[in-house]
Amino acid sequence: MLSFGALTKNNVMSLTIGVLKESKDKRVAITPENIKRSKVKDATWWIEGGAGTDAGFSDSTYSGLATIKDKASILKGADIIVTIFPPSDNDCAQIHSGALLISQFRPYQDETVNAKLSQYPFRSLSMDMIPRTTLAQAMDVLSSMASIAGYKAVLTAAQNLPRYFPMMITSAGSIKPSKVLVIGAGVAGLQAIATSRKLGAVVEAFDVRSAAKEEVQSLGAKFVEVEGAKDDIGAGGYAVQQSEEYLARQRAEVQARASKADVIICTAQVRGRKAPVLIEAETVNNMRHGSVIVDLAASTGGNCALTQNDKTIQVNGVTIIGNSSLECEMPEDASQMYGNNILNLLSHITTEGALNLNMEDEIVKGSLIKP
Ligand code: NAD
Repeated sequence: MLSFGALTKNNVMSLTIGVLKESKDKRVAITPENIKRSKVKDATWWIEGGAGTDAGFSDSTYSGLATIKDKASILKGADIIVTIFPPSDNDCAQIHSGALLISQFRPYQDETVNAKLSQYPFRSLSMDMIPRTTLAQAMDVLSSMASIAGYKAVLTAAQNLPRYFPMMITSAGSIKPSKVLVIGAGVAGLQAIATSRKLGAVVEAFDVRSAAKEEVQSLGAKFVEVEGAKDDIGAGGYAVQQSEEYLARQRAEVQARASKADVIICTAQVRGRKAPVLIEAETVNNMRHGSVIVDLAASTGGNCALTQNDKTIQVNGVTIIGNSSLECEMPEDASQMYGNNILNLLSHITTEGALNLNMEDEIVKGSLIKP
């Protein structure tokens, strides 16, 4: 068991928790509302000046809850430092040896992360490595952010679509509801299905995990089954890589449906690997003019062969939006939810105001990159 914190005047342990301003994101890791709800006993909060401004939380909104500090003071003095993206190498070099840095390091995407963090004297915990268990659900940043991305993907598609989502019966004529195809029915995909249904679209969805079928159907969408998927319950709920033969059959099934779809939302991913390509260039060419593809898998290669990461392109009248960070476009609620996930983790790893990292604990074991 590792524990630390400073003694207050009353001999009670007290942690100083510092929040840095993100350099490439409007979100902030902790909002004033989060601090109000925090159960970490006697904690002192330090917020870097301007950290919450772009998410709608000016420095004055933290007044009475946190002290506004400069970055260097937080790096050198805080017991725990929380961020959304990992701090720069320069910033990491200033963090003191007793600190715990909590961020999203994505070691499953970048195999150099562990070695890099090992150079530093502080410890680091990766929010995106917390196991996807029932107990850890309230700390699951992957789920909270994916849910926002799925919602935003549908709104983005609707905004770019030159057609209605819902069926319309008006004196100027009747309009058929749009058809939405969702590829990958994990957290983002299920939220995309729910949002599309609320907007009145007709929805079909694919997934390789058998558990997804019932979830898709319960949201009022049709589950498209491609027989023979590898489904490994030992993979922690994640999909496993499928054979090339299976993916070819799936691509044919996608192609048959894509020509009738107005919108395709792509979310299919296999953790730690390149995303499967399920929409070929030929499939895009067969789509109706004005149709929209939103590819949330863009950063891991994309589910559409033509997707360009962080770019919106037009191919034969079809708009292809490659964006894997649509949660950043809803910074206020995204910050609130990220902060709640952090607080739930902090409650789990602190006792009586001191940090307690129990190395036997499944959540700590799974997420502590450098103990
Ligand atoms: P993800 O982002 O890794 O992948 C998105 C979806 O793509 C998954 O549903 C996956 O099965 C699917 N996929 C992969 N290859 C595909 C293919 N060839 N065709 C169609 N679909 C394909 O997944 P995620 O949203 O992060 O969820 C991962 C898992 O974690 C899910 O099983 C989810 O239910 C589970 N989960 C559990 C908890 C919990 O219990 N606390 C919380 C959140 C998520």
